[in-house]
Amino acid sequence: MNLWDAPTSELQEAARELNSRLHSGVVTYVVNRNANFTNICNVGCTFCGFQRKASDSDAYIHTPGQIVQRLEQTPWITEVCLQGGIHPGLSFDYYLDLVRQIKLRFPEIHIHAFSPMEIEAMHQSSKLSHRSILIQLQEAGLDSIPGTAAEILVDEVRRRVSGNKLSSQTWEDIIRCAHGLGIPSTCTVMYGHIETWDHIRQHFERLKNIQSDTGGFTELVPLAFIPYKNRLGKVLGTAEKNQPLDFQQFEARSLHIAERLYPLARLYFDSLIPNLQTSWVKLGLQLASQSLHWGCNDFGGTLYEESITRESGGQHGECLTPQQIEQAILSAGFQPLQRHTLYSHQTRSQGFSFTLS
Ligand code: SF4
Repeated sequence: MNLWDAPTSELQEAARELNSRLHSGVVTYVVNRNANFTNICNVGCTFCGFQRKASDSDAYIHTPGQIVQRLEQTPWITEVCLQGGIHPGLSFDYYLDLVRQIKLRFPEIHIHAFSPMEIEAMHQSSKLSHRSILIQLQEAGLDSIPGTAAEILVDEVRRRVSGNKLSSQTWEDIIRCAHGLGIPSTCTVMYGHIETWDHIRQHFERLKNIQSDTGGFTELVPLAFIPYKNRLGKVLGTAEKNQPLDFQQFEARSLHIAERLYPLARLYFDSLIPNLQTSWVKLGLQLASQSLHWGCNDFGGTLYEESITRESGGQHGECLTPQQIEQAILSAGFQPLQRHTLYSHQTRSQGFSFTLS
């Protein structure tokens, strides 16, 4: 089958079969939480509704001690995902201290932190090499890094949606460096904006080359562009129809891409990147459950405190309990299994109670 030309229904059928062979009907999830330490950012990506200027009334920066206090609210998590805006005033010592303090207080919690863009910002401010930065973070307690800030790894697209962000080559260099040091990462693709299928093909090729060399990607996470509260959403609406964005049409278009992209990803990466993660934050619970029939074998995490998607207008909530995730997986006809970040030591859910606040 030529993947890139095949009808979507055939892709879905083949992806379902392959997923069943690889994962035997098991769908995993992780009990994690996000902790955003600052929303102040000077990068200005057009698709982002999270960024704030330092002078904005709702701008914030949390100290490492404040982040540790937030984690005290959810001591049962197995992973914390730390990400923030690119705050020009944050020193490298701040990031090191953040990781150290969390590891000291919660040695069992896996620290999944700092995208390649944040590593690049630490490099710019400290003048240390990427390698030296990653080694010091690893020694402080960093366990893995998110492969966000990838969007589409084609520079002509990057220039249009996030012109101040690191280049695709720098993203790749940082990821290869991390993998070489034994720091695994996820990888992502942002779809549903100005990209074409050829851009997605180039993006996939790049990820495949990296993974063939390093084996350091734990999973692929496709992320739908959320258009409701950011500049790119406004521009797309105006450019496409000379009028404000028609949200219903946009959702239908995004779904149309998702139902093809997920099976394509499963078939393209096969067991090279064995884990394909759906996104309930972007798709909502119902569509995320449906995507388990398109080749996904992982439901992502509980998140507890999701704000990046919400602030671009996402409306699918900030948190799910393990029980809600397990119910969604069971309802779709799959077997839920709680996992750790690196897909090792999978355990049955302990059935602990998870309080939303
Ligand atoms: S996506 Fe990240 S780097 Fe880009 S503007 Fe938003 S917070 Fe800043």
